[in-house]
Amino acid sequence: MLNIVLFGPPGAGKGTQSELLIKKYNLVHLSTGELLRSEIADGTELGKKAKTLMDQGLLVPDEVVVSMIESRIDKSGNVEGFIFDGFPRTEAQAEALDELLASRGLSITCMLALEVDNEELVKRLLNRGKESGRADDKNEEVIRSRIREYEDKTSVLVEYYKKQSKYFPVDGIGSIEQIFSNLSSQIDAMVN
Ligand code: AMP
Repeated sequence: MLNIVLFGPPGAGKGTQSELLIKKYNLVHLSTGELLRSEIADGTELGKKAKTLMDQGLLVPDEVVVSMIESRIDKSGNVEGFIFDGFPRTEAQAEALDELLASRGLSITCMLALEVDNEELVKRLLNRGKESGRADDKNEEVIRSRIREYEDKTSVLVEYYKKQSKYFPVDGIGSIEQIFSNLSSQIDAMVN
């Protein structure tokens, strides 16, 4: 199986690249952000609680996202692999993911980390906010708070996967096609 953590700050292009990668490698896309937004759209209790945090650009509790991911993995049946997009975002989530995969005889193949500087991220997210309808993309302060959460709680995961020799940085600036080709080359080098 090919299990990829597609990593990077908000606005790095994880969602866009995930869509291309799942088609090319026949993988299942697991985005905790998308799962949370669909809970919000469905008006569930979980969605209501998550929305308050998401609107402020803060992370939702680890247990919430870990159990969402666990149930999606179990529902997926026999698949060729997963792309984890926006998950894990804390060390506790990364540990929980390793454990829950191990207990099913699975493991993470690699972390592909899209690298984009902060000012480019803010620019991209404000632009996306004009079309995406996402409340957290419309306000620069919320965007900066999401980037701060990334720096404070998520960026440490680079070390976590480095220690396992699974960390592969990829330049996240350039055309969608160029970045996709860089990601694909990394994957092909790993599986061949
Ligand atoms: P995203 O779509 O990945 O940018 O996520 C949007 C928002 O959902 C984030 O700003 C967080 O509030 C929340 N979220 C998504 N994934 C996670 C996660 N793995 N852990 C905690 N909060 C998350």
